[in-house]
Amino acid sequence: MTKSRKPMVAGNWKMNGSLALLTAFTQAVELSTVVDKVLCVPFPYLAAAGKGDFAIGAQDCSQFESGAHTGDIAVSMLKELGVEYVIVGHSERRQDHGESNEDIAAKVSTVLKAGLTPILCVGEPLELRQSNTFKEYVLEQLKAVDEICGRSALSQCVIAYEPIWAIGTGMTATPEQAQEVHEFIRTQISDWCEAAGHSRILYGGSVNASNAELLFAKPDIDGGLIGGASLKIEDFVVICNAA
Ligand code: PGA
Repeated sequence: MTKSRKPMVAGNWKMNGSLALLTAFTQAVELSTVVDKVLCVPFPYLAAAGKGDFAIGAQDCSQFESGAHTGDIAVSMLKELGVEYVIVGHSERRQDHGESNEDIAAKVSTVLKAGLTPILCVGEPLELRQSNTFKEYVLEQLKAVDEICGRSALSQCVIAYEPIWAIGTGMTATPEQAQEVHEFIRTQISDWCEAAGHSRILYGGSVNASNAELLFAKPDIDGGLIGGASLKIEDFVVICNAA
């Protein structure tokens, strides 16, 4: 892939994995050096995640910097563990924890203030894909961040387009469907802030060792956010090397 943006592959383990699996990953070899590789593991594993050939990512953080928020994790604590990236606004957080576009924008702001990079997830549910109103929906998700966090915020984020209907379902968006939305996102955000047009936009949703190469070959797809397939070392290595 010859693009001006450095490709990135980020594994999102969600609430899966084990310390033993993490140890195996940190010893994995044969990873492409021209790709930024990130492993977003559950909070308890973050401290042990820094030993491998990956940057470390968290899967969420609090929008608050500290205080009486039992069970929440401050971004400063993630930073102490060497975390560089934080997934913000994953559809499972939006659904399971009722996170609104405004909550997510507040988290983006907190992550940026700490000097870490948000991996901002956007993407539509199946019914909006079917009614052909998915672009408007994705646009609202991005607009909230632009309006609340300021004009340059999206230029400092990695954006992950993850159509909800493709997550964990095996129903990957076709490379053409994904490219269409990625191009739309890039055009929109560069209208708001020219620098944002250079942000990396990852595709997520049932990426696997067989379909990664065709997806990543598209001009506006800069790599992937990988769920299920990031738990299998051989598959994850193939995906990293495809970017
Ligand atoms: P999946 O998950 O690759 O298992 O579809 C992607 C994600 O939710 O980030």
